[in-house]
Amino acid sequence: MRFPLRRAERAVAAAIALQLLVALPVVAARGSDDSRPSSPGSGTNAAPARDADRTAAVEALLKRRADAVLHRNKGAFLADLDPTQSRFLLKQAAQFEHLRSVRFSGWSYAVDASSEQEHTPALDAARGTWWAPDIELHYSLAGFDTSPTEEDQGFTFTQRDGRWYIAADADFLKTGRPTQRDLWDTGDVQVTKGTSCLALAHPGGAGMAALALHECDLSVPRVTAVWGTGWSRKVVLVIPDTPAELQTLVPDIGDVSNIAAVATAALVDQQHGYHPVGDRVVVNPDNFRDLGPIGRRVVLTHEVTHVASRAATGPEIPTWFVEGIADYVGFLHTDIPLSLSALELRKAIRAGHVPTHLPDDAVFKGGRADLAASYEQSWLAVRLMVRTYGQARMLELYRDIGDGTSSGAIDVAFAKDLHTSVDAFTRASIADLKRQLS
Ligand SMILES: [Zn+2]
Repeated sequence: MRFPLRRAERAVAAAIALQLLVALPVVAARGSDDSRPSSPGSGTNAAPARDADRTAAVEALLKRRADAVLHRNKGAFLADLDPTQSRFLLKQAAQFEHLRSVRFSGWSYAVDASSEQEHTPALDAARGTWWAPDIELHYSLAGFDTSPTEEDQGFTFTQRDGRWYIAADADFLKTGRPTQRDLWDTGDVQVTKGTSCLALAHPGGAGMAALALHECDLSVPRVTAVWGTGWSRKVVLVIPDTPAELQTLVPDIGDVSNIAAVATAALVDQQHGYHPVGDRVVVNPDNFRDLGPIGRRVVLTHEVTHVASRAATGPEIPTWFVEGIADYVGFLHTDIPLSLSALELRKAIRAGHVPTHLPDDAVFKGGRADLAASYEQSWLAVRLMVRTYGQARMLELYRDIGDGTSSGAIDVAFAKDLHTSVDAFTRASIADLKRQLS
């Protein structure tokens, strides 16, 4: 059933969803992680030479696996899987087939032998001689990923007759490094390419992929018109079949009932600043399906704004500004009346619940009842900023806070770019809400 217009447009604001950084821990040959215990005996007596052999064998295995993916060699891909693990073998064979239409410009693995999963009697009994070092998969979608994305792989390697194999990828779901899942883990992936966007979907999602791809292609120039050309202007859309699949693709997302789509990225190399890779816009099929054309426009433009601004969205930018700027671009030139676009906040204010401050970061997490009102307030704050100071200074402020490395960055940037304080701006924004929504 489709929602009537009013409800569909209402779904927009709530749907506009959560900007989420999936911060994957970075290890891989960049120093050890002290929080992960080593297995007993590692690094002692005769072990170093044996450990080096094992590392070399596993690295060679993963190199063969990467080549097999890139060169579509199924025989080679399967040859490194533990022949005794028939269910895992079947799943891996299916996964290899699911990847058929996806074009990669890179696929490789990094092994961090200094960080490994701890041995347990149960796993020793089940696996025999096994090893599970930290592994990262790096891959790039051809023509779209300018740097490779990084994903944790929870592989268990087993040794049989002197040879190492991959025996499992789900032994450490709760205790250690779960394998980051992709669309090809659950089913066949079909790829459709637009002018600026690429959509990955299962065969059943082809209709939704076409709608999202069309709107995404229109969103890229809209976002560029505001943000400028200093971003890739390429967007990858991922369309899972169900909200549950969305939750496996974006494991930290939590409640997705109010979310139409989410922009995600992995943060890598955090020692050297803010470096996001693997930007994806992942659609929540159940909510996206109910959006009308304007809803799809606002949602996609919102999420594409997150993609464009990601590299500038350093850790000191408050979430209200991140979401506010995305909604500012999302709603630009749509002429949706405030009675719809700020419905929840207007209701709250008319019921006497006037905000006293800009929304805290915490309100944007999870399925809170005031999520929609918080998005609306964030949007109106950015809109006021543009009205008062102009779009160029709003963008400058965003970039300056994003460049900041200390908690005072926001105060410094407000003073420099707007010649005001955060408190004074907050007061002005609340006065503006009362004026517009009371
Ligand atoms: Zn957002």
